Amino acid sequence: MRYYVQNLNGTGNNDVPNGYTSWLDFWEKKANKKVGYCHAVNCSAKAEVGAHVKIVGETNVQYIVPLCKGCNNGTDLFYVDGPLVPINSNNTIRL
Ligand SMILES: [Zn+2]
Repeated sequence: MRYYVQNLNGTGNNDVPNGYTSWLDFWEKKANKKVGYCHAVNCSAKAEVGAHVKIVGETNVQYIVPLCKGCNNGTDLFYVDGPLVPINSNNTIRL
């Protein structure tokens, strides 16, 4: 699925949950996929970070999605391809 998201600022690696080495590692294990290319639509760079985003028009649930550093910048709005992995496991993965 494709989602319209807003990138969230000020979300470094220092708050990665126990048992994960990075937000990318968190995304891989929760999505059961390997990180490849940036999930931003029309970007073909290699994914470098597990970016924090929220879906535009929905509640403030934070999700992780792999992006390149160029796309993980500011608070831009853009389209990404799922899966989006919620930080809080009470929320469901958006495929
Ligand atoms: Zn990108």
